[in-house]
Amino acid sequence: MSATVIPISVLPSVEFDAPLIRKLNQLGPRYTSYPTADRFSGTFGIADYERAVAGVRAKAEKRALSLYLHIPFCNTVCYYCGCNKIVTKDRSKAVTYLDYLKREVAMQGRLFAGMNQIEQLHFGGGTPTYLSDEQMDDLMAHLRRWFDFAPDTVGEYSIEIDPRTVSRERIHTLRRQGFNRLSLGVQDFDPIVQKAVNRIQPEQQTLDIIAAARAADFRSVSVDLIYGLPKQTLTTIGQTLEKVIAADPDRIAIYNYAHMPHLFKPQRRIAEEDLPDADTKLEMLFLCIRRLNEAGYVYIGMDHFAKPSDDLAVAQREGRLHRNFQGYSTHAEADLVSCGVSAISAVGPTYSQNVKTLDAYYDHIDRNELPVARGIELKSDDLLRRQLIQHLMCNFELSIADIAQTFGIDFENYFAPELEKLRVMQADGLITLDENWLRVTLKGRLLIRNICMTFDTYLNKQRASQPEPLRYSKTI
Ligand code: SF4
Repeated sequence: MSATVIPISVLPSVEFDAPLIRKLNQLGPRYTSYPTADRFSGTFGIADYERAVAGVRAKAEKRALSLYLHIPFCNTVCYYCGCNKIVTKDRSKAVTYLDYLKREVAMQGRLFAGMNQIEQLHFGGGTPTYLSDEQMDDLMAHLRRWFDFAPDTVGEYSIEIDPRTVSRERIHTLRRQGFNRLSLGVQDFDPIVQKAVNRIQPEQQTLDIIAAARAADFRSVSVDLIYGLPKQTLTTIGQTLEKVIAADPDRIAIYNYAHMPHLFKPQRRIAEEDLPDADTKLEMLFLCIRRLNEAGYVYIGMDHFAKPSDDLAVAQREGRLHRNFQGYSTHAEADLVSCGVSAISAVGPTYSQNVKTLDAYYDHIDRNELPVARGIELKSDDLLRRQLIQHLMCNFELSIADIAQTFGIDFENYFAPELEKLRVMQADGLITLDENWLRVTLKGRLLIRNICMTFDTYLNKQRASQPEPLRYSKTI
């Protein structure tokens, strides 16, 4: 790429600086939580989780909950996949799983009795639409037995769709079942790319599903694309993007394919020589940002773009944006109760994760205990850094005075080593810093993970012995 600094003037919400990205691109967490999930410990157990729930109950204010359901099954494997999933065509496995999942929902429902108002529901996977209509009907009825759902006009009820598993009729059924937001993976429409990642998903099928979601009155439709896939070129991603923009979704996410075959077995089926090189990937990212900005989408942060009228963009303008395990959210501070294998909850000052295998999950439920495998109780320093990282990820700025006052600290002393690193970032043009504000510049926005990493105590300690933590993806 010949340009040095490319301002994207049509919508000045982000600026693409190729040399800076090249210089600073490194491995780092995505900060859906702080501390990140790799810091969770097996010493955290069911009693700790129940204590966290009791702590929430003891607080006077009543807050609505977020609920997450993990459906781990998929029909076939996509080679780029890094999710926790079970690839099987044996439908009886889902029947058994649903039986246990419903028992966990009931346990959580009992635990949260009297404070079980739900304003946010998310089904993720795997492939939630692996379930049949009847299974979904049954599961939704069960959820309504144990939790009180806010009306459709208030609540955000979302589901991840694999277009290959649904028909137009199914989309209408999902709306009737209570979902009002939908996200679907596209990745790339090009048949050669689709073959290289083992995900054959005809373009028309996807466009039909987006049209059906509109007709069924889904409030928000979100499309996921990936750049950096095998056999992908600037032309294929450009053409895909044009077609997606023409379909007019409310949100578009552009994920960077992170090739980490040492962590994710399916990725070993991808030939490294088929992957675009680092410079081509940067050009792909630049192309996507430029086209999305020209089409009127606002850069929310990380991989996410939204129409200015979308809830996420409105929440960001009003300083109400939040980030959790499902990405950006408008429901700040809601405790997150998650059910299903490997699902992560965030209740009070804790995170906890369920066991990762079906056998272990079933064992726990058979013993009539919650399937908590590990977690963490946040110390005051964790809470401070979590809030700070949240603010930066969601608002691209931080009031130093607010943080100092809320947590009763002398910011300059407390963060002396961090401020030293931040001054280097200031010299690089990523941020501006004075005694009152830390602000991320337009060209710093794409490197927000790098900025947040400065405040990650665990990462900084670990880096002393292992400079590049191999379980993380590149920040760009
Ligand atoms: S990308 Fe989604 S559909 Fe594909 S294997 Fe992974 S979880 Fe399943």
